[in-house]
Amino acid sequence: MSELHKFLFEGLPVRGMLVRLTDAWTEILHRRASGNPAGAYPLPVQNMLGEMVAAATLMQSNIKFNGSLILQIVGDGPVKLAVAEVQPDFGLRATATVTDAIATDASLSMLVNLNNQGKCAITLDPQTRFPGQQPYQGVVSLFGAAGEKLESLSEVLEHYMLQSEQLETTLVLAVDDKVAAGLLIQRLPLEGSRNLAGSRVSLADEDEIGVNEHYKRIAMLASSLKREELLTLDVETILRRLFWEEKLSRFEPMAGDTVPHFSCTCSRERVSHMILELGLAEAQSIVAERGDIEVGCDFCGAHYRFDPIDVARIFREAGASPPASATVQ
Ligand SMILES: [Zn+2]
Repeated sequence: MSELHKFLFEGLPVRGMLVRLTDAWTEILHRRASGNPAGAYPLPVQNMLGEMVAAATLMQSNIKFNGSLILQIVGDGPVKLAVAEVQPDFGLRATATVTDAIATDASLSMLVNLNNQGKCAITLDPQTRFPGQQPYQGVVSLFGAAGEKLESLSEVLEHYMLQSEQLETTLVLAVDDKVAAGLLIQRLPLEGSRNLAGSRVSLADEDEIGVNEHYKRIAMLASSLKREELLTLDVETILRRLFWEEKLSRFEPMAGDTVPHFSCTCSRERVSHMILELGLAEAQSIVAERGDIEVGCDFCGAHYRFDPIDVARIFREAGASPPASATVQ
């Protein structure tokens, strides 16, 4: 079973999280291999997507926010789009759109930043939105501070956390075809807890009183974790090996329904809504050409088929119901 653990370093403004996705990750791979006509992901794409899923799970766990966290890479290379999405209950799904052949040793920039236009976006989409409310989105380029192309997702996200959240973060990510895992260590601001819109305690102030030394030491210990160890060792062993000289205070691990698990939010109702947005003329022309409208879900492989009667019903029911603005309470 997949696991997610949170911990604090006692008396220090540093916290950590460790995720090991097993069944949730293999389910994503299995559905792609068996349910998508494009077939299994090329290995470099599989590795990138696995890191994204592990990182998105850590980020969802790291924020106080009731909504979905969507980590996206919009690429300008053979991978046009990669998406990892995690719901507040840690239902997660992921997909990548691959349009060209990929070398077995392709680096991150060869996949998504070939022409310097690749972007990474983090979207927080609240579960209930006020009318007109937009999801929060932060975007970072795939370049480092010195203008170099970044070749690891962990660097991209560390950069994002520092830039948009003013939070120093160390991420270690590792993937194979059985496990997608990640360790996150983060330095907390001095005063209180914070979230995305929160405080701006100056890092310089903290440095003056020596708080930074603790974070640096713990971050260095975390960075010494090898990918192989993260993939093969159990959580207790990892934490003991890395932090045996530190005082850890552990939270109860996630259990029951909130253990990270595969889950897709697609539904026949949502697809009906998409058809409605096409407009009657467009929908009718597809039906005239193909006999029906068939929509496949890239995330889970589900297929939704609408015959001419279904399509007519979608537009009839929409026409019969009052306009959306009149139904808002
Ligand atoms: Zn789906």
